[in-house]
Amino acid sequence: MQEILDAIIAGTPGEVGRLRVPDFYRGVTLHADEATMFDGVASGDKDPRKSLHLEEVPTPQPAAGEVLVAVLASGINHNTVWSSIFEPLPTFAFLSRYGKASPQGARHDLPFHVLGSDLAGVVLRCGEGVTPWRPGDEVVAHCLSVELHHPDGHGDTMLDPEQRIWGFETNFGGLAELALVKANQLMPKPGHLTWEEAAASGLVNSTAYRQLVSANGARLKQGDTVLIWGASGGLGSYATQLVLNGGATPVCVVSSPEKAEVCRRMGAELIIDRSAEGYRFWRDEHTQDQGEWRRFGTRLRELTGGEDPDIVFEHPGRETFGASVYVARRGGTIVSCASTSGFQHTYDNRYLWMHLKRIVGTHFANYREAWAANRLIVQGRIHPTLSEVVPLEQTAQAVHVVHRNLHQGKVGVLCLAPREGLGVRDPELRARHQTAINRFRTGRVPAAG
Ligand code: NAP
Repeated sequence: MQEILDAIIAGTPGEVGRLRVPDFYRGVTLHADEATMFDGVASGDKDPRKSLHLEEVPTPQPAAGEVLVAVLASGINHNTVWSSIFEPLPTFAFLSRYGKASPQGARHDLPFHVLGSDLAGVVLRCGEGVTPWRPGDEVVAHCLSVELHHPDGHGDTMLDPEQRIWGFETNFGGLAELALVKANQLMPKPGHLTWEEAAASGLVNSTAYRQLVSANGARLKQGDTVLIWGASGGLGSYATQLVLNGGATPVCVVSSPEKAEVCRRMGAELIIDRSAEGYRFWRDEHTQDQGEWRRFGTRLRELTGGEDPDIVFEHPGRETFGASVYVARRGGTIVSCASTSGFQHTYDNRYLWMHLKRIVGTHFANYREAWAANRLIVQGRIHPTLSEVVPLEQTAQAVHVVHRNLHQGKVGVLCLAPREGLGVRDPELRARHQTAINRFRTGRVPAAG
């Protein structure tokens, strides 16, 4: 592994095609025989540090259409939180289902699961039939794994019945020194970013792009007002940037002054601190408080000069969904990709049908959408929102921090990269965007501007 790393750091990644790939590599895993370890424990008390391991696993061989990548850096996504607490179900159920689908899928059905749905790295080996990529190419990966044997996936690959999220519903994910992906997951690494910066965005940026911008999502327009829950978090920090980029106005909801400051540094002006304002949308476990929806809607109008949101960017789910449907403008869109606080949503349907609103379900992104989202990063229009970067050995602690909602933006993980700051191949472009890159490093004092 050291020889591979030396070639990459020396700036001669093309060499890696000639170097031996090790038989084993280190990855962050779960164990199938521990999947019941948290039975009876409340969600918030399940501790990822107890379930996650860092260990050596055998290196998989790339099959036709697959690529083995040396992972320089990865990042923590919320799906690794779900995996680590075995909610809503142990991910071994996904691996077992994939195992039954095909001989290629059977390689994923193992008693351990290497997690992680983002990477920045270097192509090491290509399986048969992989033409666009060669050993030595510097890449990022999006997390959509599809088979495309069925007609349904050929209009929008997210509709493939064999659609899976890599490193969550498949094995050999990115929180590791090596990773196995399909060739059509790869995209060019933005040359002006370091490895850890380049690895931060893929999953959340692509998801937010489809959710907000794509014709498959809310079709953001110039001038729209967009309510963004969790606006300093993983999804929200990219949604805020996409809204600003698209000539629209974000109204950012956060839960602390520090998180409000993150949004301000991204350029948002309308911010609601939900903790300071003390919204309690649920009176008790079964009853929502419409008075609180109204109080929230009034605050929104105060901030926007009387406008209701054209789009509500939803992911907290149960706790906020009733309010989201209520505050969206007539004809507005509530677009949802998750249910962090609970999957069973209730809302007052009168506000939906009488005011002609629509609820749109959305999930990750197809290759075209992920590519378009990555292109915005390559162009320096969207910036990584890293708050901290940890070594692979501290992944479990980082997942714990995200589970407790103590982070801002994204938490990066150094896999093979020995330190931060490596991997910039286009110093000129970096110099042009350095001020913005510093400003978007959430949780840090910006160096300039
Ligand atoms: P994240 O980095 O943890 O950010 C989530 C943000 O949501 C937090 O910063 C928090 O902000 C806010 N939040 C949490 N609980 C809330 C509540 N009860 N009420 C209001 N706001 C709340 O996670 P993420 O990466 O943005 O992901 C968010 C969710 O989307 C997760 O469940 C994740 O699994 C899911 N997701 C789905 C897809 C998909 O393709 N379907 C893709 C990415 C993520 P404040 O505390 O500051 O308000």
